Amino acid sequence: MSDAISRATFDQVMVPNYSPAGFIPVRGLGSRVWDQGGREFIDFAGGIAVNALGHCHPELVAALTEQAQKLWHVSNVFTNEPVLRLARLLTELTFADRAFFCNSGGEANEAAFKLARKYASDHFGADKHQIVACKNSFHGRTLFTVSVGGQPKYTEGFAPVPAGIAHTPFNDIEALERAVTDRTCAVVIEPIQGEGGVLHADLAFLQAARELCDQHGALLIFDEVQTGVGRSGSLYTYMEYGVTPDILTSAKALGGGFPIGAMLTTEPIAKSFSPGTHGSTYGGNPLACAVAHKVVQIVSQPEVLAGVKRRHQRMVAGLRALNEQYPVFKDIRGVGLLLGCELAPEYAGRARDLLKAAEDQNLMVLVAGPSVLRLAPSLVIDDQDIDQGLERLAAALAVFA
Ligand code: PLP
Repeated sequence: MSDAISRATFDQVMVPNYSPAGFIPVRGLGSRVWDQGGREFIDFAGGIAVNALGHCHPELVAALTEQAQKLWHVSNVFTNEPVLRLARLLTELTFADRAFFCNSGGEANEAAFKLARKYASDHFGADKHQIVACKNSFHGRTLFTVSVGGQPKYTEGFAPVPAGIAHTPFNDIEALERAVTDRTCAVVIEPIQGEGGVLHADLAFLQAARELCDQHGALLIFDEVQTGVGRSGSLYTYMEYGVTPDILTSAKALGGGFPIGAMLTTEPIAKSFSPGTHGSTYGGNPLACAVAHKVVQIVSQPEVLAGVKRRHQRMVAGLRALNEQYPVFKDIRGVGLLLGCELAPEYAGRARDLLKAAEDQNLMVLVAGPSVLRLAPSLVIDDQDIDQGLERLAAALAVFA
């Protein structure tokens, strides 16, 4: 058998739950990526809001290789220095007093939902177990997190699913007031619905959620898996809104491309997890934590966060100018470097065609649902890469429109 790897190999050996692009990336640097044949792409996708500092950022490579020469894994039977350093940094920089680490966003949410139920059970009894989530939301792919997520397409065929979950329309305060009761243990919200189409929560909705949770003894969980670690121009998006959750989940950009997830919470709530109640073999792995510590150190610098807001202006101005030339978008929205361009009604449902047209012009982009083009580039992308990427998008729009 030949050793050659090609896109056809995917169709031979992989479970077909993805449909990746026709090329195979083999190398990346900053916001540029090269495929097997040396073809160069500009990356506006950022590994789905993961590569916060672009590809192979020298300080992340140094943090990873330095740790790789010291200690890779010991499990949570032992603790390690990188995990404690990371937990200390995150608790210094956020509302939280305590951190739990895992390997992905879905697992961070799974931990958050379990902690909320356990806390309610400890303090109020088992009847207080209902989780209120938003329609159109996305919280991961485990059975619990797809059930809490507000997109029925992700639970179809997987019944029976966990019970005790209610869904309410995003940004509808009256519906939220009806949904939250004394049996509610948690309300979970993405401050910006990423997969759902890059839709930001209204400040009044988040404030109402905070008040309702306080009134009913429920915990407010913000899923910041996609919006966290600088993407909005603040370290976490709750800081932009000034509404503080009880539990926050983080992943994606936290590791800048190295898998890690975190659940952050306060001391009294954390106490509901005692030794043995929850865990993860790899959670708090030294390699992941060494890289994440460096990511958070860099991204939390005020000039890096200010740079996200400046790049937002440049990207949005460029996208609006493109839309004057090729009027295909009815809305260009988003916060920081999480941008959504919603297709006008005559192009509705064709976001994937635009993604393919961009690929043909050597530009990597994302979609968020059938009608929204999503951009989540590196938080430190060069102006030149922004401008050249927009030129490539213009070429794609010329073919698509
Ligand atoms: N929560 C949100 C808001 C997300 O956007 C995602 C992934 O897109 C997840 C959770 C799941 O994260 P992961 O794929 O790392 O499990």
